[in-house]
Amino acid sequence: MPDSQPGYRGRFAPSPTGPLHLGSLIAALASYLEARRHGGAWLVRMEDLDPPREEPGAAASILDALAAHGLHPDEDILWQSARHAAYDAALQTLGSRGLLFRCDCTRAMLGPGGACGGRCAPRQSAIGEHHALRIRVPDNTVIHFRDGLQGEFSERLDAALPDFVLRRKDGLYAYQLAVVVDDGFQDITHIVRGSDLLDSTARQLYLQACLGLPHPHYLHLPVITHADGQKLSKQNHAPPLVAAQAGNNLRQALDFLNQPQPPAALRDCDGILASACANWNPAALPPVLGMPGPRDAR
Ligand code: GLU
Repeated sequence: MPDSQPGYRGRFAPSPTGPLHLGSLIAALASYLEARRHGGAWLVRMEDLDPPREEPGAAASILDALAAHGLHPDEDILWQSARHAAYDAALQTLGSRGLLFRCDCTRAMLGPGGACGGRCAPRQSAIGEHHALRIRVPDNTVIHFRDGLQGEFSERLDAALPDFVLRRKDGLYAYQLAVVVDDGFQDITHIVRGSDLLDSTARQLYLQACLGLPHPHYLHLPVITHADGQKLSKQNHAPPLVAAQAGNNLRQALDFLNQPQPPAALRDCDGILASACANWNPAALPPVLGMPGPRDAR
């Protein structure tokens, strides 16, 4: 059912750590269909931020696979590798607001989840080039948001994920920084992505507030798993999608998203996508198992 919302801007933001697999197609397709339902724009951003984790040729193969599935972005691809100046500018802004500190704590000095216990605090001015930049999260920072599928969330950010890294010791920008700067730069209003990223959302909302950026709406999808319950991901060798099977792949993704199947006579991706758009019903999306929050709080 169309629900036109002028100014809706959604996106799919893959990291080129391997080829597109069914799990990433599900996120791409759901974000695309939500954008279409609202009469909005759908963008693709290549998060090529971390060369050591990237696989040569993966970015091109992901873009080819999206095209083979009929998923064509409405604007040029934004490449994070070309956005370093913007990330530096954001760090400057945060630094000038007194929100950053240098951390050269070794792994052994860090607490659970890589939290900095503050041992670097008294040495700030003596810390050399080899340091991470972390953002301060004051005590009692409670982040609240309402997920489009999972309902209400509240998190004590200082307790759960304190003082997180924005630029790593190796000089690479952290995903949390880049994603927030670029969602702001691209005027993204709605983020539809896998629930494996749910625990990043509070950090991103906090960073948006620190940078004076608007908060997008979030909808976190259930994540497809291997038979053993492990998330299907490039790291655990999810099989790449075969372009010749694109129509079937879309059908499988729709099945996972609990959406009606397009008529069997439709074989090409454009026809399947048109039918999926006409019948897309986010209220039918499956819940994320184990997630708190009322599903009907949309
Ligand atoms: N690049 C991230 C990934 O592939 C997703 C970023 C996002 O959707 O916020 O896991």
